[in-house]
Amino acid sequence: MSSPLRFALVLVACLLVARFAHAAPAVPVSQDIAVELDPAARSLHGEAEITVRGSGGFDLLLEDGFTVETATLDGRPLTVRPRREGGLLRWPIPSGDEIRSLRLVWHGTLEPLARGMEHRDTLGQRRLTADPEGSFLPAGGAWYPLVVRAGELLLHDYRVTLTLPAGQRGLVAGTRVAETEAGGRITARFEFPHPSEGVDLIAGPYRVDEITARSADGRELALRTYFHPELAPLAADYLASVRDYLALYEDWIGSYPFSSFSVVSSPTPTGFGMPSLTYLGVEVLKLPFIRTTSLGHEVLHNWWGNGVYPDYGSGNWSEGLTTFMADYAYAERESADKARAMRLGWLRDLSGIPPGADRPLTAFTSRSHGISQAVGYSKTAMLFLMLRERLGTETFDRGVRRLWRDRQFRLTGWDELRAAFEAEAKEDLGSFFTQWLTRAGLPELTLEAARATPEGVAVTLAQGSPAYELDVPLQLGGPGGTTNRRVRLDQPRQTFVLPADGPAHTVTLDPDSRLLRRLGRDEAPPILRELQLDRASALLVVGEAGYTEPAEKLAARLLDHVPAAQPADTMPSDTPLLVIGAQAEIAGWLARHGLPPAPPEVAGRGDVRMWTLRLASGAPVALVAADSPAALAAAIRPLPHYRQQSWLVLEAGKARDRGVWPAKAPSIPVARSPG
Ligand SMILES: [Zn+2]
Repeated sequence: MSSPLRFALVLVACLLVARFAHAAPAVPVSQDIAVELDPAARSLHGEAEITVRGSGGFDLLLEDGFTVETATLDGRPLTVRPRREGGLLRWPIPSGDEIRSLRLVWHGTLEPLARGMEHRDTLGQRRLTADPEGSFLPAGGAWYPLVVRAGELLLHDYRVTLTLPAGQRGLVAGTRVAETEAGGRITARFEFPHPSEGVDLIAGPYRVDEITARSADGRELALRTYFHPELAPLAADYLASVRDYLALYEDWIGSYPFSSFSVVSSPTPTGFGMPSLTYLGVEVLKLPFIRTTSLGHEVLHNWWGNGVYPDYGSGNWSEGLTTFMADYAYAERESADKARAMRLGWLRDLSGIPPGADRPLTAFTSRSHGISQAVGYSKTAMLFLMLRERLGTETFDRGVRRLWRDRQFRLTGWDELRAAFEAEAKEDLGSFFTQWLTRAGLPELTLEAARATPEGVAVTLAQGSPAYELDVPLQLGGPGGTTNRRVRLDQPRQTFVLPADGPAHTVTLDPDSRLLRRLGRDEAPPILRELQLDRASALLVVGEAGYTEPAEKLAARLLDHVPAAQPADTMPSDTPLLVIGAQAEIAGWLARHGLPPAPPEVAGRGDVRMWTLRLASGAPVALVAADSPAALAAAIRPLPHYRQQSWLVLEAGKARDRGVWPAKAPSIPVARSPG
């Protein structure tokens, strides 16, 4: 299965993302699958008994690299011939009885494991791969027959029996009801009784560790690691963390819906969350911070994403809510500073999106490239932060629990999500959600004037038109300290009188970065990420010929596009610019164009340094200055992990120090009343 597969994968991927059917009260399809996989031979043999409910016609889809041995409908051989379409076999089944049963037997050879993958190559992966080091058969690759009606994949419950050679272990999402070893083969049976979005199958040379825990509603939960042998020493810590995360979210949201949870290692740098399991790269699992950050995020996806299904037709709310209740919640728990830094990071990312390149949240469906990630994760997480501030934590948490209670295993759009919060808040949240979901870009606010009056401080705020409805945090500063106030701005220009506790000398806008808005230039110090998000970013390579290759490789990894080349003698003006090359030549280039030299944070340190600056036009420039082409080559791998930074020092391919230029919230003096 080589080239046609690619097309199939793309087609099925689009189909899965965009066209899920709305869950009917009864699960529309049940699948009973028996699959034998031999990873060394890369061979698969499958049998499926499929029950389809509802009398309408439907299509049966299977990856077209497979050979079909048997295909029957209600006990008789299928008379329709499959069409080959986009790398898929497609059998159109006309309308008929209310309940129909199909049986398919097929076999084929899977693709080899792709080595040397980057994390971003694994996103949206639909290839069916087999290898003794790890096999991965995503549902989107149609490794078993998928049922599609009116262009929409039907949700299905399933039972899967998986047979592997001894020494291999494998799993699919769901309850493992049996596992037996006989005759050099190991067979495991799984059941998933909920309407599912598809069966992803994983196998590898795993050592399995297990502990049991109890769910909030008293059920026994099996917590497992399916780890490559080299990860065995980490299993106990991972299992303890999973138990803690499950307890945290059961308490916060409601009972965990499955009977097990597994952390599964992958030979490729994946980061997937499926129902009841997460599939993370071996190298990822070794990173010390994964247990305290990503693991909790993946566990929470059992509620949001794999418990309540986002309806992609209206945009994906589940990444933002998961980011808010995992990554952000952990930052908040750690310290107020850490939480503030995360909010500022989101606002900075969002503000770095060039006007016009942004799309509304309703268009965000998955993580495909830089902009959609910034929009999907950060903007949605900020939306939930503002919602919690508006409703109060208690009401917000009641909304979260209601969403879980009402929408389990159902496709859920933003409207249903809003309804859950409205029911608890007893308040119409229509305009709040509409403006954040349907408008692209961000509000831009200006602090226009502040004047002392007998009643307090009169503050004039302005924003663009049409106006957003915003709860704006303001801070009054004076000799007696600071006072925080909040005003509801819903006009292009409004003046508010803020009662002051004492004399106030300054007014500061959103000092704590709690409002979703476009940051001003001074507030948003340049970071490497800004170059990635702007398709106009150009590349200049300076230094001897040996720098060209590593510089171009690095640029390809840092940016989402192929950059135009910027000539060295052209005065930088309004084009975002990535300058990569030899330290001495970069210093000369900066001096020739009247730009400041390397700042003390990076000057003379390490063997590669990166720093950013902003041109008078507002365009960002990022410089990567190396001591040698070899040092630059060693920076290609680590550097893209630091896109959120304004400066970075690397030595022998390792980050030594880093930072973000300080941000400053807009502030104006309070004028004395003219009398
Ligand atoms: Zn996620």
